[in-house]
Amino acid sequence: MERCRFTTSWGGVLRCRDEASRFGFCRFHYDCYRHGEIDARGVISERISDQERRRSINYHGVPGGTASAV
Ligand SMILES: [Zn+2]
Repeated sequence: MERCRFTTSWGGVLRCRDEASRFGFCRFHYDCYRHGEIDARGVISERISDQERRRSINYHGVPGGTASAV
């Protein structure tokens, strides 16, 4: 199974564990990409000022999903 290539900005090493569906991203991150929230490399856009949104993008598919995971 191919995994989503999104890498969280959170340490830069954790990757989303969802199955890749389109363009190397999982459905969730593909949607983010389409909306310009992350770029083609899977890096979260600096233009997103909403911290809650950044957090949900960053933590989607990351095991643990919360700050205690690292
Ligand atoms: Zn993903």
